[in-house]
Amino acid sequence: MPAPALRLAITGGIGSGKSTVARLFVNLGAILVDADALSHELTAPGGAAIAPIIEQFGASVLTQDGALDRSAMRTRVFADPQARRTLEHIMHPLVGQLASERGRDAERAGFGCVLYDIPLLAESSGWRRRVDRVLVVDCDPDTQIERVMNRSQLSRTAVEAIIAAQATRERRLHCADCVIDNTHVSLETLAFEVKHLASCFGL
Ligand code: ADP
Repeated sequence: MPAPALRLAITGGIGSGKSTVARLFVNLGAILVDADALSHELTAPGGAAIAPIIEQFGASVLTQDGALDRSAMRTRVFADPQARRTLEHIMHPLVGQLASERGRDAERAGFGCVLYDIPLLAESSGWRRRVDRVLVVDCDPDTQIERVMNRSQLSRTAVEAIIAAQATRERRLHCADCVIDNTHVSLETLAFEVKHLASCFGL
């Protein structure tokens, strides 16, 4: 009987290096369950979220091919907090359910580590209970801002606004079982640290 899979949640603010660390884990044999990707899948044409979205918002929030028009929806929820809550009520349970299904499938397929990338993990006690460990990729805000500005067209003010809307660094660290410090660290050192941590997890 193989050892049960380790359920590891990964979290970190924008630009912290969370995706980079997740990729390194996948290279070492983990499987990634990515809530953002699942949310795209659920809002693609024929996805399970499309019918309840039409029911609440009407068909005007869809593109011609029947997917969620993400940019139209972003504008709508930005201007209307109630619309945001309605959308979250639709999406969160569906994403949670699909993430659990995918995790179970991966365990059945024999993966030793399932890595859950769930953006709202720090805000969700339900998710905290469903994983064995929470890994936080930590980074100081100046480095986050610099990295995001380097990889996108966003202004400093725009990045600062995104960071301000996310869980605080303290809150995230508070729910961590293990932390990877990615502030003054080269990509090579980061890869080394991930390898070390993964080996502690049996990968
Ligand atoms: P997140 O998923 O947390 O938003 P990413 O993993 O996409 O962040 O990293 C943001 C950017 O910073 C990417 O371009 C990535 O290659 C780069 N990056 C991440 N960690 C480091 C590091 N230690 N040194 C240099 N660049 C890094």
